[in-house]
Amino acid sequence: MSADVITIECAPWCEDGDGHAEASGRGDQSCWGPADYTNLTLEEIAQDSFGSVASQLGVMAYRGFNQLPAAYLHLHLIHHELGDLDRAVYLTAAEARTLATVLLAVADTIEGPDVCPN
Ligand SMILES: [Zn+2]
Repeated sequence: MSADVITIECAPWCEDGDGHAEASGRGDQSCWGPADYTNLTLEEIAQDSFGSVASQLGVMAYRGFNQLPAAYLHLHLIHHELGDLDRAVYLTAAEARTLATVLLAVADTIEGPDVCPN
């Protein structure tokens, strides 16, 4: 007996927004918001055929099938001796806000509150 993939109701911020009807299984029916990556200039870099590649930390909204929405932190840390670290961490909205507040406080501590890149 065959079964069609039933579309889901996408999160309002989902970049696809079509219910993921083309997914081949439930595991592919994940909603992703826009990704925002920061190059980690104090961390290791690597060279590939396109030039240099930086270690990065990415942040985006995520909701897996039958899961709660989360802030998805994606760490790609280049480490030549041990191999690259490619891991994700899921945060609740409250945890993401707490982390953002702490990061701002640490940035103010190391650089002062009057410095703004914008
Ligand atoms: Zn979606």
